[in-house]
Amino acid sequence: MSKIAFFCIPAYGHTNPTLEVVKELISRGHEVHYYSYNMMKEKIEATGAVFISCDPYDIQMHLSPEDGKRVGKDLAFSTEILVNTTLALDEAVLEDMRKWKPDCIVGDSMATWGKLTAMKLEIPFVSSTTTFAFNKESAKVMDHGLGQLLGMLPSMLRANKYIKKLRDKGYPVKNVLSVISNDNNTNTIVYTSSQFQPFSESFSDKYVFVGPSIRNTEAKVTKTAEKLLYISLGTVINQNDSFYKNCIEAFGNTDLQVIMSVGNLTDIKALGDVPANIAVQESVDQIAVLQQADVFITHCGMNSVSEALYFKVPLVLFPQTNEQKGVANRVNELGAGAFLQENTVEKIKEAVHMVMDEPAYRKAATQISEGFRRSGGAKAAADKIEDTISTTRKIS
Ligand code: UDP
Repeated sequence: MSKIAFFCIPAYGHTNPTLEVVKELISRGHEVHYYSYNMMKEKIEATGAVFISCDPYDIQMHLSPEDGKRVGKDLAFSTEILVNTTLALDEAVLEDMRKWKPDCIVGDSMATWGKLTAMKLEIPFVSSTTTFAFNKESAKVMDHGLGQLLGMLPSMLRANKYIKKLRDKGYPVKNVLSVISNDNNTNTIVYTSSQFQPFSESFSDKYVFVGPSIRNTEAKVTKTAEKLLYISLGTVINQNDSFYKNCIEAFGNTDLQVIMSVGNLTDIKALGDVPANIAVQESVDQIAVLQQADVFITHCGMNSVSEALYFKVPLVLFPQTNEQKGVANRVNELGAGAFLQENTVEKIKEAVHMVMDEPAYRKAATQISEGFRRSGGAKAAADKIEDTISTTRKIS
């Protein structure tokens, strides 16, 4: 039996794929302590892990909405948040780790405090990467061109100032890139297949591409029409009334069944009259819906795309961020989806019918699905963690 600590940021997209891995580890007799945020408590405890709340140390909770939007866009600002979160958690986490003596830390690639604690205490570490793995090659697909990287330089220099604060606290950190990027020396689990990951051959054998970790569901969605269209912009940047209204106008009173998940910040009443063939909900059981769906308009979050392709559902691509654009580019390149060119009633109709009616999209989605199903899933991820424990030095 081993003791394993998980660290994650407060985001469903980064947490969900780890939950099946945690369940698998627990079923193999390991003990898991999961450091996360109260919004995830119930889901984490349902796996059998011990939940430990980082909310008292959460820097992000004290940010203004304006500052919140800068996270992820402004590298220096994001680094400041990461460094401050690490420093805020420093004493409590180090004390826990010294007492509990975990055999391994599994840290989300953005929860840098997991990796940094592991480095400081020399605990075996596994990176959990829920996006595409990121290096010079895959950056090409991710829309991080040279110009954009050069544009990041001043911000990187400023970010390195914050990194110095970590060094002063005894964290062996070289520079900002060494904290935020994937590297070939770190054991890394990537929740996609080697086929779907762009340039997978450019990553070392420390990487395992385990495919998406799809959670089980008991729920069943009843199909009330021949074709089911599912629409969701995910759980983060999902406020877009004009898009939702356009979808209602495009498909209301047609022979399609439509399920639209709009998030808990959208005022459903403000979307106007909703015809009977469309169900608008704050949140749905996406896995249950995708098992029945024929086409999915998605914001191209890595999880939504992976879950859809796992169930062979072709996609209409409506990315909202650069990272999502990278995922969308890859889907498009492999032929499993087409871009929504513009948020208008006509373009939405056109894209949905093209993807739904042209069998090549479903065929490409089916091929990707087969690759995912061959990749080993949560079991392969748990194997990687066990291998890391047995091949790396234990905390003394
Ligand atoms: N999700 C869900 N119900 C919904 C909307 C989303 O269960 O109504 C889940 C979805 O299955 C996925 C996650 O939330 O696992 C969204 O992650 P993704 O990476 O697609 O996007 P994000 O929300 O992080 O932008």
